[in-house]
Amino acid sequence: MSGPVRTTDTPPDGREAAVALPVVELTPSKTAQLGTQTIHRSLPTRLRRTVGAWCFLDHAPPGEPVPSAPGVQVGPHPHIGLQTVTWVLSGEVVHTDSLGSEQTIRPGELNLMTAGNGIAHAEQTPTSSSDDVHLIQLWVAQPDRTRDGQPAFEHHGELPLVEFERARATVLVGRFAGASSAARVDTDHFGADLVLDRGTTVVPLQRDHEHAVVVVSGSITVDGTTVGPDVLTYLGLGRDELAIEAHEDTRLFLLGGVPFETRPLMWWNFVARTHDEIDAAYRDWQTGSDRFGPVSSTLDIVPAPTPPWMQQGETFRRP
Ligand code: MN
Repeated sequence: MSGPVRTTDTPPDGREAAVALPVVELTPSKTAQLGTQTIHRSLPTRLRRTVGAWCFLDHAPPGEPVPSAPGVQVGPHPHIGLQTVTWVLSGEVVHTDSLGSEQTIRPGELNLMTAGNGIAHAEQTPTSSSDDVHLIQLWVAQPDRTRDGQPAFEHHGELPLVEFERARATVLVGRFAGASSAARVDTDHFGADLVLDRGTTVVPLQRDHEHAVVVVSGSITVDGTTVGPDVLTYLGLGRDELAIEAHEDTRLFLLGGVPFETRPLMWWNFVARTHDEIDAAYRDWQTGSDRFGPVSSTLDIVPAPTPPWMQQGETFRRP
């Protein structure tokens, strides 16, 4: 017997899962409660682990204001093998990390953190901030080429804008409609925030990218399918352009990329390939190893949950 054998234990990698032809495949987001904040998670889904290298999309709409702890209050926690793309639609968040970075992010700005072999960070809305926080955080899986590399942090206060007749796009990462973001990309992928007036806008796409749209507010029709907020609208490969009909003032996220080289293994805040790699990251975080340095934050450190496949006796409680 020769050739690859796929069993139920070996789910498809990014290239096998990608749909070679234009499609419209809808998957509603899952919701989770984080304090008073409702989170809509559009990626990953059971069907779609990746769109290009994009492997995670959380949308946190404005929550109920809590004066003592507004917006985002996430204490020091680790990451490996991914980039976090933080995009604020309203309010502000202060990022601190184990490289010593401290960066406030405001609407129109991009925070891009590359974890590589390991980084830790905290994200916190200052108590002085009165604006409700409306936030999108995405993760990009790092390819084998860079995922064991050094951690890094970038802030981009200025991002390229593209004007259409009835739409405006901000290019967060990669290249879209002739404009390129200066943010680091380790694979061929892009992400753009589009604000559309009512009517139809045709945007250029790349034939060798798979694409997806997530509406943040408003509603659109693509290829005869109407979709509202927080639904992963997967569009497949093979498109040169996309006609988006907005039924009202609409804001959406457009993601694209060459299908990812493999199927990343995601658990908690780690993106890896094997359980052993996850176990090592879990142990290194729980034992306070140098792999993840200290983070300046007034918030409590977030302990890792125990990987469900671990035997009792292999687990660690943080000292
Ligand atoms: Mn994080």
